[in-house]
Amino acid sequence: MSENKYDLINLVELQLLEKNIIRKVNEISLLKKSGKLQKLEAEFGEISAIHESMSRDYLDLEHEKKKLEDSISLNNEKIKKHEAKLFSGTITSSKELVNFQEEIKQSKLNNDGLEIKEIELMIKIDEYRPKLKQAEIKKQAYSKDIESLKMEIGIKVKDIEGRLAVLRERRKAAISKIPKEVCARYDEVKAKKGGIGVAVLKNRVCDVCRMEISSGEAERIQDPEVIHKCPECKRMLIISNESIENLKAEIDEM
Ligand SMILES: [Zn+2]
Repeated sequence: MSENKYDLINLVELQLLEKNIIRKVNEISLLKKSGKLQKLEAEFGEISAIHESMSRDYLDLEHEKKKLEDSISLNNEKIKKHEAKLFSGTITSSKELVNFQEEIKQSKLNNDGLEIKEIELMIKIDEYRPKLKQAEIKKQAYSKDIESLKMEIGIKVKDIEGRLAVLRERRKAAISKIPKEVCARYDEVKAKKGGIGVAVLKNRVCDVCRMEISSGEAERIQDPEVIHKCPECKRMLIISNESIENLKAEIDEM
């Protein structure tokens, strides 16, 4: 009979190990689909889109400025050329002279207009630059937060995976100590009862369905060396003892 008792604690151990394994698998999947991370990533997406559109606008302004500068220098070259012609002494008619003078005047007028536009554009660019920088800093801050959260999650997952490996090894060892037919019965009840096949009776209360058994039932469920059946949830029922309580605490800590 003492051999049977040994089997019983192994059965409780198996149940406790499996419960902890399931808990850890759930913890990992919860960590991996972290709501906090999803929220950060969604916000990062929005901020990136804003930053991208601001960068495009900024480049457009710079491009516009470059175009203006090119036009101004083209006009300046034209003015220089015309002035050179004017002082070269090759102009023979007064009509030609007036034409050149008029061209020069027009080019200078054009440049005056273009230079005003250029200054306006430079002011705009100067005002825009810090806003763009701010958007960039915000984007980088989000990116950093996401990276560190991912790292934090990765460390936690790795830790749990390590504990899982230990639990799984111990589960294998526990199974090897339980007679095959008991294991088969356990699996059968477990499949029918939402993954929990074994319950422990402590102070006349089933630790799974929480039902307190009647004093009549208690008379019947007394032998600590046999597997009983919970009258309420029909799980395999084992009477608690100190070793079982210690085991519960130990496996819970794993
Ligand atoms: Zn029960």
